[in-house]
Amino acid sequence: MPDNVRNVIIIGSGCSGLTASLYAARANLSPLVIDGHEPGGQLAITTLVENFPGFPDGIQGPELIDNMRKQAARFGAEFLIGHVVKVDLSQKTTDLGKKPIEVSLGRETLLARTLIIASGASARWLGLPSERALIGHGVSSCATCDGFFFSGKEIVVIGGGDSAMEEALFLTRFATKVTIIHRRGQFRASKIMLDRARKHERIHFLTDTVVDDVYDVQKKEVTGLRLRNVKTSEQWDFPTSALFLGIGHTPNADFVGDQLDRDGEGYLIPQGYVSSRVPGVFISGDVADRRYRQAVTAAGTGCMAALEVEKYLEEIEK
Ligand code: NAP
Repeated sequence: MPDNVRNVIIIGSGCSGLTASLYAARANLSPLVIDGHEPGGQLAITTLVENFPGFPDGIQGPELIDNMRKQAARFGAEFLIGHVVKVDLSQKTTDLGKKPIEVSLGRETLLARTLIIASGASARWLGLPSERALIGHGVSSCATCDGFFFSGKEIVVIGGGDSAMEEALFLTRFATKVTIIHRRGQFRASKIMLDRARKHERIHFLTDTVVDDVYDVQKKEVTGLRLRNVKTSEQWDFPTSALFLGIGHTPNADFVGDQLDRDGEGYLIPQGYVSSRVPGVFISGDVADRRYRQAVTAAGTGCMAALEVEKYLEEIEK
């Protein structure tokens, strides 16, 4: 193989990619981590994390991810800012030996013996043209990043899962009133999170309700929403200063195309634990996890992927 072939490239610098990089670095594999468009992944845009073991009083998400990054760097992990547009996993055997895995960042192509795909999942949007036009002007998918801008104002959060509850609870630090709008009457949120939101005096709920439009694109600020009750079809205007989306995530795996197995929503489907149908290519974290999606499970599969890389490299060197 040519000299510029890395032992392992890790796509994604969230909890899973960083755990993989820590293990790979400690195994002297000099991993290269590609940061991606959301460095640090979802922990970087969350607030207090109370369910990552080892922190009895909880820890702020950005601090936790920063610690993980420093820990991996201490053992020799390298980081590169870049967005992967394509990978070539064909690994054909030629006269010169086995072709390495190619990771294209657009401007350059990197080569590796093994690959860990830990590219996570990104926040979903409703898909309304007015919502899109007002992103950064009152429409946001990150309460931690943008909540502060709406101090003393009324805010709407969309969704019925834990993300929506967490965002709403966080936003009560700033808002005079937070309204959670959910398209159904039943919630996906865990009981503890839903109860916390329900008990909060500044959080209100509107169920069986969807957003048909966001005002006011002309003014370049959010002034209100056009809402509709899905049971009665009644429509009305609802004033608000901000719209936060907490409606789940989409896996970041388009750069793989059909070279690996993916489900209907695009999540990668691992074989066994963290392997894929391509030898030397491993999968970890939320890009393959629609069920658990926790920091600790992402870290766990990141660790497993790095251990598999170590084993795979040992075997091909024999
Ligand atoms: P989720 O559980 O999939 O919930 C997404 C919510 O958004 C659902 O209520 C869904 O409605 C709604 N939704 C989706 N698309 C929509 C659309 N186009 N318009 C309106 N509503 C829409 O996602 P999540 O809340 O991000 O949670 C994902 C996982 O992470 C879960 O396992 C959760 O427990 C975990 N999580 C944990 C914490 C924590 O423990 N602190 C925090 C955040 C997330 P329907 O119910 O009608 O489908």
